This record gives sequence, structure tokens and C-alpha cells, in this order.
Amino acid sequence: MVGIDAQNKNILDRKFICSDCSLVLRDPVQLSACGHRLCHSCFLNRNQTLITCSQCQIQTPSDQILIDRAFNNEMQTLSIICSYCNWTDTLQNYEEHLQQLHSNPICQYCSQQFNSIDQFNQHKASQCQNILIECLLKDFGCHQQIVCSELSNHYRSEQHQHSIANILQQMKSQLKDSVMTSNRMDTDSDYTLNQLEEVEKTMNMFRSGGEILEEDVKQLSSELAEHENKLRNLTENISQMKLSIEEETALLEGMKQNLDILNQDLVLLEEKMNDMQCTSYDGTFVWKIRHVQEIMSE
Ligand SMILES: [Zn+2]
Ligand SMILES: [Zn+2]
Ligand SMILES: [Zn+2]
Ligand SMILES: [Zn+2]
Ligand SMILES: [Zn+2]
Repeated sequence: MVGIDAQNKNILDRKFICSDCSLVLRDPVQLSACGHRLCHSCFLNRNQTLITCSQCQIQTPSDQILIDRAFNNEMQTLSIICSYCNWTDTLQNYEEHLQQLHSNPICQYCSQQFNSIDQFNQHKASQCQNILIECLLKDFGCHQQIVCSELSNHYRSEQHQHSIANILQQMKSQLKDSVMTSNRMDTDSDYTLNQLEEVEKTMNMFRSGGEILEEDVKQLSSELAEHENKLRNLTENISQMKLSIEEETALLEGMKQNLDILNQDLVLLEEKMNDMQCTSYDGTFVWKIRHVQEIMSE
């Protein structure tokens, strides 16, 4: 289970939004060390003895985290716009509305249907590959929304690299400004400026490295295509050879059958010959006398 989705979640006060699932808090728990809140289920999902707040990085031992009932009560009067229709009412009536009207939601990105809002929310939070998301650098040049499964491609894109370069540029000029206004070059900002320049150099190296990699990939894929072609030709040759072998085998089979028939005929003929040697056709027996010479000489 994750938080509660709503059309107006992005315009609500940030304190009502879970920093783990980015939805409206469901059964909020408070991190005692920093005061920020999570959904109870998102806290359980962490399954850690020390919970690091994703808003401020301060750690709270998990046995010091309790359900914040007072805050939960305060939230019930929040005005909510249903995420599936234009129903608008307070949070306390939202669950009932969802149960009554949207018990089998369909994902608008991948058309999969779900048996409960909760399953659907989990799907949207982590499983849907078609969902549109925003790049973390949307304020620095990556404006358009990106299909979730394309995100790693986006990170390698020219546009995203450009956004990173933008950030570095901005950080550098801000730092220079602050140095100018404070009118002294302390060692700290000097160091930071150097670091930034290092990062910029590394970035440029990565960029040219990326271009070389892309070239390599292109070459490899053309080689692959060539090999695939050869393989296809070979496969065709093999199947042709197989066909002609089959034809020859059939031919041989036919010849063998003919030979068998001929052999049978021969046997029959032989038998007939033998019969004929013993039979006379004019009514008298013909005696066949073997070894005539031996008999005569006796
Ligand atoms: Zn949450
Ligand atoms: Zn915090
Ligand atoms: Zn609705
Ligand atoms: Zn989906
Ligand atoms: Zn980006």
C-alpha cells in the first residue's frame, strides 16, 4: 500500500505529501528527529532500523517512529479532487467515493486493469513502464515528460547532458557572484570553484567518451548486420542442400524399389527356367542326365 492519489496533490502544502511515494500521506508517521512525515506503509516498506528522511537526510531510529493521529485528523478536512473524475470533497469522504465509483481502475498509460485502487497506485508508483515522468533536471532544460522505460536513454541524451552543463554553469556564476560581493577570495570558495571546474572537465570528458562509444556501437551494429546477412545466406544454402539431398534420397529409394522388383522378376524367371527344364510340351518327359561323361566312361 502507498499514499493516496489525487488530482490536486501537487498544489497541496508539501507537508501533506509523503516524500517516499509522492502521494497524499496515508496514516502518517512522524520522524521524531526532524519532524517530517511518511505514510505508515512507506515507513514499513523501508524495513530498516534507522530511517533516513528523504527530505533532509536526518536519521531517526525506527522504534522512535509513531503514527501521528493528530496530524491524520487535521488532514481529514483537506479538500481533494478525485484522481479519476472531477469529484471534489474532503479527504475523509474520498475513500468511500473511490470504493463506490472506481473499484476497478484502468491505467491510462498501459491500459492494464486492477482490482483495487491500492494495486493500481502500486503499479503507478513502481511497475508501469509506460507512465510519463519528469526528469529531475526539468528546471534546467529537460522540460518534456519522458516515458519511464526511456529514462536511461534520456540520461544519455544530448539534452540531458546540456542540462547538467547548465547547472554547472549556474553554480559557477553564483559562486563567482558571491565571491565578488563578499569582496574577498577565501580559500573555501576558491577550492569549490576549482572543484566545479574539475567536474566540468570530467563532464566534457564523459561527453566525448559518450560520442566515441556511440561511434563504436554504430560500427558494431553494422558488423552485426553483415554477420547476420552471411548467416542468413548460409542458412539458405544449407536448406537448399537439404532439399537436394532429400530429392536424391527419394530417387535412390525409387531405384532400389525398381531393383527389388527386377530381382523378384529374376527369381521368378529362374524358377520358370527350372520348371521348363523338367517339363516337355509335347506330352513326353525329357530326362535330364547329369554327368554324362562320367557315366559313359564307366
Ligand atoms: Zn508514502
Ligand atoms: Zn526530515
Ligand atoms: Zn472519482
Ligand atoms: Zn500502467
Ligand atoms: Zn534530463
